Amino acid sequence: MNQTNTRAYNFNPGPSALPLEVLEKAQRELINFRGTGMSIMEMSHRSSTFEEIHNGAIARLKKLFSIPDDYEVLFLQGGASLQFSMIPMNFLKAGQKAGYIMTGSWSEKAFKEAKLFGEPYQIASTKENKYRNIPALQDIQYDLDAAYVHLTSNNTIYGTGWHDFPDTGNIPLIADMSSDIMSKPIDVSKFSMIYAGAQKNLGPSGVTVVIIRKDFLETAITEIPTMLKYSTFVENNSLYNTPPTFGIYMLGEVLNWIEDKGGLSEITKLNEEKAKVIYDVIDRSNGFYTGHATPESRSLMNITFRIAEELEKQFLVEAKEAGFVGLNGHRSVGGCRASTYNAVPFEACQALSDFMVEFQNKHQ
Ligand SMILES: *Cc1c(COP(=O)(O)O)cnc(C)c1O
Repeated sequence: MNQTNTRAYNFNPGPSALPLEVLEKAQRELINFRGTGMSIMEMSHRSSTFEEIHNGAIARLKKLFSIPDDYEVLFLQGGASLQFSMIPMNFLKAGQKAGYIMTGSWSEKAFKEAKLFGEPYQIASTKENKYRNIPALQDIQYDLDAAYVHLTSNNTIYGTGWHDFPDTGNIPLIADMSSDIMSKPIDVSKFSMIYAGAQKNLGPSGVTVVIIRKDFLETAITEIPTMLKYSTFVENNSLYNTPPTFGIYMLGEVLNWIEDKGGLSEITKLNEEKAKVIYDVIDRSNGFYTGHATPESRSLMNITFRIAEELEKQFLVEAKEAGFVGLNGHRSVGGCRASTYNAVPFEACQALSDFMVEFQNKHQ
C-alpha cells in the first residue's frame, strides 16, 4: 500500500503532524543508526555520534532562524510550561515588576507563575474582546523599571498571532513562540529570549527550545536550583544531564527538512497559501463559518472558526468520517480549529477547504 495514502489529514494542535519524509528517514535509521548497530535511543548522550546530532541541530537552528552570535540555543525539558516558571525564577527578583501582554490562555498561565516570584502586571489584555485580537502596538505602555516584557507570539487556542512585534527599547522582550516558531522569518535581535515546546512546529514533544541572549543571561539570579537555572545548560551545552536524545535527533531532522524545502522564506509562502485556502472559505461563506480572530490578528498556524450550534457538531462528525483529524476547538473554548503547522501539507489544507465548501452547500 502506498504509505502516503495511509496518512490522515492531520490538523492536530499539538503534538501535531511531522513531515512524512522525516518519519520515513527515522524509520530507516531506527534499528541501526548509521552503522553503529543501535538506535539513537540506545546510545550514550556523551558519544561522538550523539554529540554530532546535538551540535548539528543547534547549528542548523541558528542558521535557519538567523540567530545572531550573541545568543545561546538550549534544549531543555519540562515543555513550554516549565518556562513559565523558569523565566521569573531566573529573571524576576522579589518586589520587581514584569510586564505581561495577555492574548490568551497561555499568557494567563505564564502570568500566574510569575506572581510566585515578583510583581508581574498586565500591560495590555484583549480578554474583554474574548481574545479575538492582538493589542495595537501604540496602545501598549512600558514601565521602564520592568525586569522584562512577556508575550505569546501565536495564540494556539484563540487563533491569533502577532504580525509586528513591539519595540520595548532597553526592556528585555521575551516571547513564547511554541506554536509558530520557524513558521516565518523573524528578527531575533528584538528579543532577549524566545522559547518553544517542539511539538507543534519542530518535532516530537519532550524538547523545549530556548534562544537566549548572553547579556540577558548575565543578569540572572544565581541562588536557584541547578536544573532550573539557564546557566547550567549554557555551561554544559544542554548536556548537564541526559537530554531527550531521540527528540533532539527528530528536531534536527525536521530542521533538515525545512532546509531542503528552501528555508523559512519558502516555508512562509507555503504556510500563507495553506492558511489562505481555509480563511477564504470562511470569508466567502456569508457568515456560515465565522472566524474567531479579527482578520488583522489572524494566526497563520491555528485557524479558529464556528458554525451555528447544531451544525457544528455535525461538521465535526462528518469531517471525522471524511478522514480529517484534530478539528475540534480547544476544550476551553469549543468551536473548530485547524492547525496548519509547517509539516501539514498543502494538499490537506486544500482538502479541508473543499470539504468546508461541500458541507456548506449541503447544509445551508
Ligand atoms: C502548546 C503551548 C504551550 C504548552 O506547551 P507544553 O510543551 O505542553 O508545556 C505553551 N504555549 C503555547 C503558545 C503553546 O501553544
